[in-house]
Formats: sequence, C-alpha cells, structure tokens
Amino acid sequence: MKKTAVFIMMVLALCIFPGTSFAKQQGDSPEIEALRKHVEQIAFKLRDQMSRPDKLRNVHVQKGPDINAFADNKGDITIFTGMIDFVRNEDELATVIGHELAHLSAQHIKRSIGTSILATVAQEAIGGTLGNLAGSALFTKQSRKHEREADRLGMLYMWRAGYDPRLIWKFWTDMDKQMKAGNSKIEKFLSTHPVHSERIENFKVLLVRYCKEFPELNYCPGIMGNEDLIRTFNEFEAR
Ligand SMILES: [Zn+2]
Repeated sequence: MKKTAVFIMMVLALCIFPGTSFAKQQGDSPEIEALRKHVEQIAFKLRDQMSRPDKLRNVHVQKGPDINAFADNKGDITIFTGMIDFVRNEDELATVIGHELAHLSAQHIKRSIGTSILATVAQEAIGGTLGNLAGSALFTKQSRKHEREADRLGMLYMWRAGYDPRLIWKFWTDMDKQMKAGNSKIEKFLSTHPVHSERIENFKVLLVRYCKEFPELNYCPGIMGNEDLIRTFNEFEAR
C-alpha cells in the first residue's frame, strides 16, 4: 500500500475513534464502575429498541474531563465522565447513548471505513493527491448522512425506552453554547458531531414527524400542541 494511503487511514482512524484509549475492563475505581453500571442500564433499555441489538458489545465509562462519547468498530460505546457531569439528567444521558447506539445499529463505522478506502483508491487511481481524507467531499457528505441517521434513530430509541425526546434539541443547543463560550472540553465531540441550525431544526421536525407516524408515543399531545414545533415542521415541509 502506498505511504499516502497509510497516512490517510491513520488520519481517518483518529477522526472516527477520537481518544482511542478505551476504558479499562478491570481495575476501574468503584466510582467509575458504579457510573459504568448506570450507563449500561440505560444502554440496555435503549438496546431493546435497536434494529440490530446484537451490534452492542460493551459499555465503558472513561475517566476524563472531556465532554465526549463515541462508538467504535468493536461494538463498544464509551462515555467520558466529563459528559456524565455535563448532562443535566438521565434523559440527556439517554440522548447521547441513543445516538452512539444508532451508529452501532446502522453499522456506520464499518461503512465509513469501507467508503473511505474506496475513495482513497479511486483518487490514487486517477493520480490525484489527497491531502486529508476527512475533508474530502465524499467523506464529509457521508459522515453528515450518518450523523443525521444517528440523530433520527437515537431519538426513537430513547423515546420508546421512556425518556423525554423534547430535551434533545435543547441539549444540542447547550453544546453549541458551550462551544461558542470557548469550552475546550467539548471540542473533540463537536469535531465529529458539529452543531448547526439545521441539526437543531431537524430535531424539532423529527418530534412532529414521529408523532404523526406513531401517535401513541409519550409526549405527543404536548408536541402536537406546541406552536413553535408545528411551525418549524410546516416550514420544513413546505420547502
Ligand atoms: Zn455521531
């Protein structure tokens, strides 16, 4: 394999698995183990909603100040203690866990690696030089698609598991505020999960769309009676 291809794959690995030091299976302090159990309990509730529940292998909690979480290609999810401290309640923690579980269920990581290598090969075949694959149009387009899919599926997992999905767009708005206020602990997570107005809007649209599709869901009377949500949905549909 060409040197550039190896380099690009290394860059890519860092993008997909930020902070690759995994939580230890053994030797974690009792506090970390208690947190891990708590996160695992929520993850198991959400797992019942996944189309591929078999894709979740382990749940880790990593001690560290970063407000971060990620899913990896082994089927594990890792939540940093910084994220657990940041969320205001269990519903928000379920939001993060649901999003990461959706990446596993939809097998995004495996698919990203496949497409990226393909892109590398294609670029090399036509003799082009590829500086940073993560910035390539194909990669960006695909990762955005995966983020949207994880948002969409993750919301349904946590909602059906009994959590309040109305908190999701508020949670992401808070993340954005922290970033704008210069909180560096949030950088890693936001580098792979950018917040923009489209993302926030999408969560509002999804609330109404799911209530139209599954009116039996909790909170639907409130959602369908919320003028802001209905207006956002109608404007989106009219485009
Ligand atoms: Zn994501």
